[in-house]
Amino acid sequence: MIIDCHGHYTTAPDGLQTFRAAQIAGLADPSLPSPLKPNVSDDEIRASLENAQLKFSRERGTDVTIFSPRASAMAHHIGTEATSMAWARACNDLIARVCELYPRNFAGVGQLPQSPGAGLAGSVRELERCVNELGFVGINLNPDPSGGHWTSPPLTDTFWYPLYEKMVELDVPAMVHVSSSCNPNFHATGAHYINADTTAFMQFITADLFADFPTLRFIIPHGGGAVPYHWGRYRGLAQDMKRPPLEQSVLNNVFFDTCVYHLPGIELLFEVIPAENILFGSEMVGAVRGVDPRTGFNYDDTKRYVEALGLDDSTRVKVYEKNALRVYPRLKSRLGSAVA
Ligand SMILES: [Zn+2]
Repeated sequence: MIIDCHGHYTTAPDGLQTFRAAQIAGLADPSLPSPLKPNVSDDEIRASLENAQLKFSRERGTDVTIFSPRASAMAHHIGTEATSMAWARACNDLIARVCELYPRNFAGVGQLPQSPGAGLAGSVRELERCVNELGFVGINLNPDPSGGHWTSPPLTDTFWYPLYEKMVELDVPAMVHVSSSCNPNFHATGAHYINADTTAFMQFITADLFADFPTLRFIIPHGGGAVPYHWGRYRGLAQDMKRPPLEQSVLNNVFFDTCVYHLPGIELLFEVIPAENILFGSEMVGAVRGVDPRTGFNYDDTKRYVEALGLDDSTRVKVYEKNALRVYPRLKSRLGSAVA
């Protein structure tokens, strides 16, 4: 079985965006009625997936996608915590419907109602609802709800601990995933995403977060940002700071996906990062949708790069299946007999 740990509902039917537009209009003019919920039919959901994620998944030979709301649309910087709560619930409910319609193809990951300056009580409540009521297997955690201004404490700060306590209790991981950038210096998917991946990793190596939460797990997407390429720098910085070696301080708790859109990047990832810490992912349909003229295949067809490595069977099974089941333990009961 091939599990893709990184997919977003980038093709959601228009009703979702209509809901969001009405919500944003209501922020500017509170006299407008609040939108109740997105008007989206099951047929629209099927059509939105059959010609996109499901089609590509079948063509490329992957089986299950760990599926979350469109990350760039989380836009936690818009409105208040109440705005983010209504938006997160609408997006998560839609993901739950996807998973209900296609239980063998998708497993849900939730969006949190984060908001700059707000606490995490609402996020803890939505996390519980996502796992206990919607059957989700993880969450996306935005380290920068301000959208490019980095006004929140580092991920190692005790500010985040109430959320981590709940993640540990429910045994679900978080993918560290920022959203859109409202800082014109940072292109969302080209700079803000990759910056955030790199930033999160550096935060993790500077503090004792994983001593406090030995079973807490994070996936750093997009191949870990700049981390694998600069592994020597991070090892050296840890050494200079009298921190434990990275293998000891972070690699029991931090995992990288394969959303790197060319073969040399994937080769480097596998050379530097232990296979136990790599989860197959594509972020399809997502940030980069075109065809690479050098290969004739989509940039985000990441399975081709992994296949080109010629991994031995046991490594391939880890990267495609076993690591995901270990990092997302709730996936196993969701998929039932389909997995070993
Ligand atoms: Zn993503």
